[in-house]
Amino acid sequence: MVRAMFAAIALLLALAAPAAAPVPPQAPAEPPPPVRAAAARTVTALLQRHGEAERARIERGVRQVAGAWRPADGDAAAFEALCTAQFAPAGPALDALFIRLEAALEQLAGHAVEVNRELSRWAVLDLGPLQPVDPLLSAFDAGAHTVDDLFAGQVAFAALLNFPLTTLEERLAAGDGWTRRQWAEARLAGRFAQRVPAAVNQRIAAATSRAELYVAGYNVYPHHLLDAQGQRLFGKGPRLLSHWNLRDEIKAQYAQPGGLARQRALQQVMSRIVDQTIPAAVVDDPGVDWNPWSNAVQPAPAAELERGQPRATVDAAREPDTRYARWLDTFRAVKAADPYVPSAPTWVARRFEVDRELPEARVVALLEEVLGAPEVRQVAALIQRRLGRPLEPFDIWYDGFRPRSRYTEAELDARTRARYPTPAAFEADLPRLLGALGFTPEKAAWLAARITVDPARGAGHALGAARRGDQAHLRTRVGAGGMDYKGFNIAVHELGHNVEQTFSLHEVDSTLLQGVPNTAFTEAVAFVFQARDLELLGLPPADAEARRLLALNDLWMTWEIAGVALLDLEAWRWMYRHPAATPAELRQAVLRISRELWNRWYAPVLGPRDATLLAVYSHLVSSLLYLPDYPLGHLIGVQLERHFAALPPGALGAEVERVTRFGNLGPDPWMRNAVGQPVSARPLLEAAAAALAASPEVSR
Ligand SMILES: [Zn+2]
Repeated sequence: MVRAMFAAIALLLALAAPAAAPVPPQAPAEPPPPVRAAAARTVTALLQRHGEAERARIERGVRQVAGAWRPADGDAAAFEALCTAQFAPAGPALDALFIRLEAALEQLAGHAVEVNRELSRWAVLDLGPLQPVDPLLSAFDAGAHTVDDLFAGQVAFAALLNFPLTTLEERLAAGDGWTRRQWAEARLAGRFAQRVPAAVNQRIAAATSRAELYVAGYNVYPHHLLDAQGQRLFGKGPRLLSHWNLRDEIKAQYAQPGGLARQRALQQVMSRIVDQTIPAAVVDDPGVDWNPWSNAVQPAPAAELERGQPRATVDAAREPDTRYARWLDTFRAVKAADPYVPSAPTWVARRFEVDRELPEARVVALLEEVLGAPEVRQVAALIQRRLGRPLEPFDIWYDGFRPRSRYTEAELDARTRARYPTPAAFEADLPRLLGALGFTPEKAAWLAARITVDPARGAGHALGAARRGDQAHLRTRVGAGGMDYKGFNIAVHELGHNVEQTFSLHEVDSTLLQGVPNTAFTEAVAFVFQARDLELLGLPPADAEARRLLALNDLWMTWEIAGVALLDLEAWRWMYRHPAATPAELRQAVLRISRELWNRWYAPVLGPRDATLLAVYSHLVSSLLYLPDYPLGHLIGVQLERHFAALPPGALGAEVERVTRFGNLGPDPWMRNAVGQPVSARPLLEAAAAALAASPEVSR
């Protein structure tokens, strides 16, 4: 997990102001006519003052300010006065402005991170009993209104007047020829590319929060699933949260005797969630027995109840498309922001062009390259041989490629507990750990001096700094008996994040370029560290067979989630074409899209047609077109991990430093600097092909 500089960036792309104003009608982002007239006069005045050489910058800057200007910012005279006072001609004046804004934005973001970190420490760190006020303090966000305030105080207009707003298309076309300063200027203006009214952001936050609540309460009790003979398939056990626990239970059942019947039952549950024929009464209710094939429901007998008294009757009515109603609400909420982001006027454009900085068409091509790869059929044939039966739809979640550890958990726990009785012991060992990972003693000491280790309440996370002079924080869980192996494994992962965060803040040439392009890049560095955890305990590294199995697992997981990502995208495209759709219409569209994707990419590999399992992902409902990040993350991760794995011993430290200090110039420039190629699916496919070729299980 990482709470890296994205927190800081989010501060400046800030969302959600808790103003209670009603959502305005779809106000156009056009400036009012008096400001349009003033803009023409302002251009003339600035040309007279600064000369023809500045014409392109003047026209662009005045247009950018006019595009963001609102009546509340002032009248035509105020507009003209601001532009006249704040325009800086190229040369020393512009350089001075750049340096001022770069420093100011670093201070704003960095101190907001520190304030938030201090206010959330009681909720997040293991510092004794939680007080009722702690979650409230933790939810406070010192940066929530930063962008609004910078517009209100006109700093944002000074930036927009002098630095270029760019589209992804422009950055892709021209960025290779840009200087680092040009990139930093583009990032500076980009902080102010969106001026979405607080009420619209609040509507987005409310719709998302409602969808998240719906998802968070969507549990199924497996003990209450009955087969055709009325037999229970599962013993009493925990409820399963859809879709995560349902999917993970399917994975776990590969290793259980009789697991196939339970896997089929869970698959049937999923398809009823997707098409909403699931009886509403079985959701999050342990008092109802349910046959997911016949769809019959009945009160659970007293002996089978987890709690409470048996009920007299059960309503068999299906869930009334709530899943699709919540999803549509999030669509309508983000669509309301469209007029305020002229450079990316749909949510689909904002997700791909602003957040991911990879064009939609390129992401689709990458995903389809994986979906149609011949290696997938070979892996499927291998899985079929291992299972000894024809494949079924739920086998997209086949889980048998994860290598078994050569050590028991207890053996490993004993080692880590002895080494790390406290978080302070882990912090004291940072220089040695970093040295073992390939950093020089000087660099290891430099990094260790910038990373603070804190005791976490949860599993652990990495919280980066956003201001030079501040510390990155590694949060780790250490129980009373010392750090167990699971905690150590996570802590080494988080250390990878902290190292990336530290280099990409302190060693990047402009803090406007701080960070990495997206979470997949920092996760890749974290996984590279995590994969070496046994070596850090003085044990031999993973063997070749384990690496082969992981390569097959990577391909199978990426193949599975690539289709889910395309479904997410297709559904959003459909909603944009049908903005007045009812929940029932969205359900029908999602079912149709998921069957089409299934029949195109999955049925030829697995056999059965028309499965709708891809649509069970809860992220579809509440995460606003987030799912493409997963397969992209796998591709980026494998690409980087293979690069790092190929390094000679001792070279890892210097290489991690070289690639992470590059800064955020977007995924493709970053990857080209790191590995010499843009983001690509080839390394994943090549690793799988090599693993298949070397596998003793594959008959040739
Ligand atoms: Zn992570």
